[in-house]
Amino acid sequence: MTANYGFRTKLSHLGRRGKHEHGFVNPPLLRGSTVLVPTVAQRKALQAQRGAQVLTYGTGGSETHWALEDMISAIEGGTRCYIVGTGLAAVTVPLLVFLKAGDHMLMPDHVYGPARNFASGMLVKYGVETTYYDPCISGEGLAKLMRPNTTVVYTESPGSHTFEVQDIPAIAAVAHAGGAKVLMDNTWGIHHFQPFKHGVDVSIQAATKYLAGHSDVLIGSITVSNDEIWQELHAGARQLGQYASPDDCWLTLRGIRTMGVRLAAQMDAAMQVAHWLRHRPEVAQVLHPGLPGAPGHDIWRRDFTGACSLFGVEFKPTFTAESTHAFVEALELFGIGASWGGYESLAVPTTGNITRTAGSGQFAGPLVRIHIGLEDVDDLIADMDRALGVMRAFKG
Ligand SMILES: *Cc1c(COP(=O)(O)O)cnc(C)c1O
Repeated sequence: MTANYGFRTKLSHLGRRGKHEHGFVNPPLLRGSTVLVPTVAQRKALQAQRGAQVLTYGTGGSETHWALEDMISAIEGGTRCYIVGTGLAAVTVPLLVFLKAGDHMLMPDHVYGPARNFASGMLVKYGVETTYYDPCISGEGLAKLMRPNTTVVYTESPGSHTFEVQDIPAIAAVAHAGGAKVLMDNTWGIHHFQPFKHGVDVSIQAATKYLAGHSDVLIGSITVSNDEIWQELHAGARQLGQYASPDDCWLTLRGIRTMGVRLAAQMDAAMQVAHWLRHRPEVAQVLHPGLPGAPGHDIWRRDFTGACSLFGVEFKPTFTAESTHAFVEALELFGIGASWGGYESLAVPTTGNITRTAGSGQFAGPLVRIHIGLEDVDDLIADMDRALGVMRAFKG
């Protein structure tokens, strides 16, 4: 497809190859393990094309997978994409592929908790050492932490609980100078941050979030910047038996078709709620990088073209964590639950500093993480107004 079409045009037309669809608009949902071929010679010829988008065996993927891979690759601006069963697998697979015993990794202090568990759990067992760094580190600061055996600099920007925005171009320059690859969890920045234009080598998406978009699918994607990295990733992911169900790929393809309008509507509503919260007397600060004056706003404005609908609120230290629990429980339209990127709003008390070791994420007041869905924004604000009243009245 012509490269210079707009985002929404691409979301409507990518991943549809015509010849495979039997006249239907959408790519087929193909399920299967065994692929039959008429002759042994043809079987050998197919097997020789490993890594190409040809049917060889179920775990090699099918039209359903490839349509999704091609779409996500285009959205992220990469060359190829590999789909795995969860967002967490999209974190762990490239770590296993690009690290080996004796290597050192740098990981930001605010990283998604299960990614940290993997680095401080299984990777230790396999002889990989991890140093956690302040996510707001400068290039010079990072250079001091690089070692001759540092092979992966992991990034996540902004952090999904405390929303520190990382200086990815500066980090990537230092990492590359030291011979390390830059891996990035770009879930928050979907579409609005183009990872490969800022020096990232491998971009991770919890496609569970905005790509699937309806809180009913778990899926992940790993997109790469060049063919050499693709060959290594693809071989490693196949060795690990990584695969995603075609049903989940198909649902994600369906979700992506509307992601352009969902992202735009949810960004707009989240900005309105963030602005409203900022002026509330209960609030110390709103942790939304898109908000002028908020932490990370300058880098966000330099590197991002927009924001998703996930942000944080720090309440004044006069409020206890328990009073924020009363706040989220009093909300009628916001569910209390993990994940985000669906069509429905969520609010969860969160702790910035619970697992930190590099000193980041210190807040005087309690935090609540807000996800804004597709509800009418006036209803959401009225709901919050009422629940803040419950929080103020809380005695505990
Ligand atoms: C949710 C999430 C993941 C993991 O995705 P799952 O599909 O739930 O495994 C990874 N990174 C971030 C930032 C997330 O929010």
